[in-house]
Amino acid sequence: MRDFVVVGAGPAGSRFARSAAECGRDVLVLEQGEVGKPLACSGHVSLDVWEYVPDAARDELFQNAIHGARFHLGDADSRAYPFYRDDPISNAIDRVGLDKTLARAASDAGADVRDRHTVTRVEEHRDSVTVTARGPDGTERFETRLVVGADGPRSRVRDQCGLPEPDEFLHGVLGFDPDPDHQEFVDVHLSVPTFFAWRIPRGEAGVEYGLAVRPGDDERARFRAFCDDYGADVDERCSGLIPVGPPKRVTGRRSLLVGDAAAQTKPFTGGGILYGMRAADHAARTVDPARPETLGDYEDAWRSELRREQQLGHLVRAGYSMPEPVQRVGLRAFSGEIGVHMDEPSTLFSREQLKALLSWG
Ligand SMILES: Cc1cc2nc3c(=O)[nH]c(=O)nc-3n(C[C@H](O)[C@H](O)[C@H](O)COP(=O)(O)OP(=O)(O)OC[C@H]3O[C@@H](n4cnc5c(N)ncnc54)[C@H](O)[C@@H]3O)c2cc1C
Repeated sequence: MRDFVVVGAGPAGSRFARSAAECGRDVLVLEQGEVGKPLACSGHVSLDVWEYVPDAARDELFQNAIHGARFHLGDADSRAYPFYRDDPISNAIDRVGLDKTLARAASDAGADVRDRHTVTRVEEHRDSVTVTARGPDGTERFETRLVVGADGPRSRVRDQCGLPEPDEFLHGVLGFDPDPDHQEFVDVHLSVPTFFAWRIPRGEAGVEYGLAVRPGDDERARFRAFCDDYGADVDERCSGLIPVGPPKRVTGRRSLLVGDAAAQTKPFTGGGILYGMRAADHAARTVDPARPETLGDYEDAWRSELRREQQLGHLVRAGYSMPEPVQRVGLRAFSGEIGVHMDEPSTLFSREQLKALLSWG
């Protein structure tokens, strides 16, 4: 019997698998397709991402250094409120390459990573879990002490183990213009309901346009209008769900969720790569597969690290729906040089940031 069967080889699943294997656990990862595909993510991340990636892969994954964001209340021609720093705040990276790199690192650490295996059923028993998957050789059953649902926003493990859904889902749409762009600013447009639209320069990989709204809120028409407004020639398109939460419980009798399955995302950007990997490390360190009662330690550990950031993230997001005159005042007050960490909204309210604000008079 395995210690852990991990469903999904996205960043959260692969990171968990690597960390657990490094702790000496017997780990099997089942991924339904080819690792990293299909793409449905901007791969715009804080520099912390490099702590999770072997040094040798860095140059291959890096696309562009971002020093700040220009916020707009309208479309392309509207006034910009810049937030910036001399040093890079974030990077645009190759997201498909990131997933492949993290899966390889899990494999190198001793995890058994198998692609083209779709998990169709999960049954929690008193002393074990049976995971059924459809693979190239037909249907297979795997016995494990614990199952890890790292299977994204529409998690099958979450459903099968009767765990609660996140509070909300947003629908994100992306498209790419292949013309290279090495600018140092992303553009953020508070011009769609409850969330925002964005433009990310990705160096030689071109420019990405995207937006997220509630499902059914006319995302395709809004996306077309946004790209037309920029005069962008967007060819490739993709889309995906962004869970916002988190749910009250992400552990079952012999199951745990990590990453998007557990809505470990930033409510104000939808980003989940770093939060998911940070939570995955907590799970690997705290959960002993021979003692399912340690699942509670994981709940405590990840929430104590991310709870405050997620709560503040909800507060920042509420600002996207405020009346325009209030937004204008807020953007004017906060824009300029900043010392914030993009994964930690608490730094927006830090003593240094408030001191900087006051010193501008
Ligand atoms: C439009 C958009 C833009 C985004 N941009 C950013 C960004 O710039 N920065 C950022 O940090 N985050 C971003 N995100 C969020 C980010 O993509 C997710 O938070 C992140 O991918 C979560 O990682 P994960 O490993 O939990 O899940 P996923 O990356 O979704 O991985 C889940 C894996 O599970 C597999 N799987 C699913 N079901 C099964 C099954 N039954 N059997 C086997 N395998 C299965 C899937 O194939 C997939 O490989 C964006 C999301 C969207 C939709």
